[in-house]
Amino acid sequence: MDGCKNPMSFADLGLSPELLLAVEQAGYTEPTPIQAQAIPVVLMGRDVLGCAQTGTGKTAGFTLPMIEILAAGRSKARMPRSLILAPTRELAAQVAENFDKYGKNHKLTKALIIGGESMSDQIALLDRGVDVLIATPGRLLDMFERGRILLTDVKILVIDEADRMLDMGFIPDVERIVGLLPKIRQTLFFSATLGPEIRRLADAFLMNPKEITVAAPSSAATTIEQFLAVVEEIDKRETLRHIIRVEDVKNAFIFCNRKRDVDVLFRSLKKHHFDVVQLHGDMAQPARMEALGKFKSGEARLLVCSDVAARGIDIKAVSHVFNFDVPIHSEDYVHRIGRTGRAGQTGRAYTIATPDDGRFVVGIEKLIGTVIPRIAVEGVPALDLVMDPKRRGRGGKTAERPSRDGRKARGARDEVRTEEAPPREDRPAREERVPREERAPREDRVPREDRAPREDRVPREERAPREDRAPREDRAPREDRRNAKDRDSRKGRDRGERGGRRERFDSLGIGEMTHRDDAIGFGDHMPDFMLRTVTVKG
Ligand code: ADP
Ligand code: MG
Repeated sequence: MDGCKNPMSFADLGLSPELLLAVEQAGYTEPTPIQAQAIPVVLMGRDVLGCAQTGTGKTAGFTLPMIEILAAGRSKARMPRSLILAPTRELAAQVAENFDKYGKNHKLTKALIIGGESMSDQIALLDRGVDVLIATPGRLLDMFERGRILLTDVKILVIDEADRMLDMGFIPDVERIVGLLPKIRQTLFFSATLGPEIRRLADAFLMNPKEITVAAPSSAATTIEQFLAVVEEIDKRETLRHIIRVEDVKNAFIFCNRKRDVDVLFRSLKKHHFDVVQLHGDMAQPARMEALGKFKSGEARLLVCSDVAARGIDIKAVSHVFNFDVPIHSEDYVHRIGRTGRAGQTGRAYTIATPDDGRFVVGIEKLIGTVIPRIAVEGVPALDLVMDPKRRGRGGKTAERPSRDGRKARGARDEVRTEEAPPREDRPAREERVPREERAPREDRVPREDRAPREDRVPREERAPREDRAPREDRAPREDRRNAKDRDSRKGRDRGERGGRRERFDSLGIGEMTHRDDAIGFGDHMPDFMLRTVTVKG
């Protein structure tokens, strides 16, 4: 553990023999930095503000000491003794799995309260009394409003992935839930980022917390080789297929920026006989679980997903990450590629950009402190990034771009479009969209912290059905519902942002992928963000 003053074994952290056995059986030899720092503090009963990227082992960081604390004491019917809030059903389910894994030598009971699954089963569990309640905010409030849960006995609260909760517009729900808990409690608050809004929440929820920051996308990430291909929009799929074919892809995440593009790309890959599944917020719960199961078991090698749907999903040893779209927010790039190169393995991350992604690529390279080596794929013309911001934001470029040889012939395009991407009835015609000039300039827009994410907004299924929500008077005041307002005001802008063409030409030959001569390599340089440092305050 390079240079940090971490204790070297779990035994040093004050865990009981039962837990040490469970940890050993999980195959862990030493605690990750966040675990080494957080576990003793949680055992002391202190509040924790933990900032660490996905994959740093946060779950065990709070689960292990919680099991230790909860081992003394018993639960009463409908009065859980601890509550863990997670932003998505998958993350909640994953925390529950962790409880089973680490709690195998204890007799603690738990309930998983997530949308999209039988409420009566969940109610039956609650009635029996649980030590640990793991929930998504919407379903929990729903249960509470139905009088199925009393939160007055909650002694430990965990808020996991706080920044993602913020992104998804769950903070008003979380604030309501926290208002229902006893004031005297222990609160553990985890986030991958610590922006001003997150700090404000931490101040509101925590008392004299120990602040633990682990600056790394993954505690174990040693090597992620990164590459960038710049191609025409119409060549993106061919480029992706080509790379998948020539690379030794064991399993891979393929990220799209928007959830409807996830489905389109998924169907395209399937048509080309790749073993692929998809995951996005609009899928029904059983379908999501099935997709994840197939990917985890290796039955499907490729998972096309959106940032939110994939966030925090713990799948070990993913050999590749593909960014089918350049993420607009640089931090998302770090989160995405952090899914590979875990646990000391090497991973490869390929990003497919169009020339107009220039400023997004620059933003990413600034953040990671290195230039991503460019590659060219044979059979696909390699282009250069365009930095002129006047050209466009994303997508609206089709009109002014000079067409390249005969490949954009109208007939061919239409033919392919019907095969691979049916026209989107939900979009207004080009002329009806908001003209660029009428839109707020980037800087004037709402800062990221305050906004719902571009796509994958509040997953429908996780929100209480309208009738079930609290009556008007009981709901948060207007200011707290800012997220909802922002969502509406952004609709027009989103529509205008991308008119990406969907045509594909499959007659291209597939050749060897070659690195361009002018590619800038990593050499021996290790980007800063991959070097782990631990700082402890408080
Ligand atoms: P996070 O919540 O920070 O994203 P997770 O808790 O999901 O991270 O852990 C990421 C992965 O690391 C999981 O596969 C988990 O089993 C593994 N892991 C956790 N702690 C350790 C450890 N001490 N040693 C090895 N692997 C660990
Ligand atoms: Mg986590």
